[in-house]
Amino acid sequence: MRDFTYHMPTRVVFGEGCLDTLKELCQAFDGKALIVTGSESARRIGALDRALAQLPDAAVFDGVQENPTTDTCERGAALCREKDCAFVVAIGGGSPMDAAKAIAVLVRNSGPCADYLGTDRVKNGALPIVAVPTTAGTGSEVTPYAVLVDTADASKKTICSNHIFPTIAVLDPRLTVSMPSSITANTGLDALSQAMEGMVAVHATPKGDVLALETCRIVKKWLPRAVADGTDIEARAQMLYAAMLSGCVIAQSRTTLVHGMGYYFTLEYGVAHGLANALFLTPVFQHNARCLPGKVAAIADALGAPCEPTPDAARKAITQAIHGLLETVRMSPAAKDAGVDSDRLDLFAREIYSNKGRLKNQPGDLSLEDVTRFFWKAYEG
Ligand code: NAP
Repeated sequence: MRDFTYHMPTRVVFGEGCLDTLKELCQAFDGKALIVTGSESARRIGALDRALAQLPDAAVFDGVQENPTTDTCERGAALCREKDCAFVVAIGGGSPMDAAKAIAVLVRNSGPCADYLGTDRVKNGALPIVAVPTTAGTGSEVTPYAVLVDTADASKKTICSNHIFPTIAVLDPRLTVSMPSSITANTGLDALSQAMEGMVAVHATPKGDVLALETCRIVKKWLPRAVADGTDIEARAQMLYAAMLSGCVIAQSRTTLVHGMGYYFTLEYGVAHGLANALFLTPVFQHNARCLPGKVAAIADALGAPCEPTPDAARKAITQAIHGLLETVRMSPAAKDAGVDSDRLDLFAREIYSNKGRLKNQPGDLSLEDVTRFFWKAYEG
């Protein structure tokens, strides 16, 4: 048994209709709320109105785009200060939740958002954060991360601070029913990727491993059902639960090279975050099977492809498991089918390989040739 720490301060409230208990849940916070959301979906599905009915003097910042930028967060923080809000309520997917976390930091700490990108740079705490996910994938409602696009160089960076664990996560599966099948699949694959990466990460924890395997089992069983029939409320609830579990995993372990490489496909070609990660799972886990065959075999088993815990068997089983799942959720395993070009793959590989921070949570020694091969295998499928 290895040494580990496991920190999870977020109160999780889960249940159909629990958005309507928001007023009661927020009673402990003294003052007005800033509701942070995306441009459209929270309004369209009625979640924003339901929140406003309970928090009538709340201000609304609805300018959060997908993959939010540091500039956006600074605009949100300016509104939060102007309206003198005492806490933030995020309603939406990972993008509004992460923007809300950054806004909560900026209101309590002076200076530009870029000052807080990195680990433990937040010195003066953050406003209380209530996170209401409307996608089932990122688990941001239970993580100490805010992933932002740094406007200065258009790259994804993370505020990592225990101050931005949401105080309360409000998980109402009904809010996810409106996701179209493509967003359901993309976000569900993000939960899978987080669980798989978290389990093999250098900073994996034994408790996180239990949650990761459970996440894999749930995704295998319920993601295809949620994709096939978005009104299947049991499938929606199971996937929202799995996403939260995957957030609990990475809150301790962080993610691995898969996420770092996926950011290139998202930022350069607009591939949705979850799919961008999933495209790298096969090549990277074929490598992981060589250095952690027992763990990769356990993941393959949880995904319905049992095998002996040997490198060769684990490599074959994990390949079969990931390809099988992608097929059932109607996703191609090839990045070229998602609009990625091949002309800069070698450049991306060189760039990420030179960033040692991106490699340090990844198990096994990697050469530049390995990383280049991951990009090409993800491209070809
Ligand atoms: P998202 O970027 O928040 O949203 C994707 C799309 O889904 C948007 O068009 C959004 O519309 C729409 N949408 C959201 N809820 C919907 C619903 N119920 N029905 C219909 N459409 C809906 O997607 P995401 O995958 O949840 O979040 C990805 C972001 O999270 C990335 O920036 C990623 O880096 C980050 N992330 C953070 C963590 C963390 O721990 N902090 C972990 C993983 C990923 P609107 O724009 O109109 O809302």
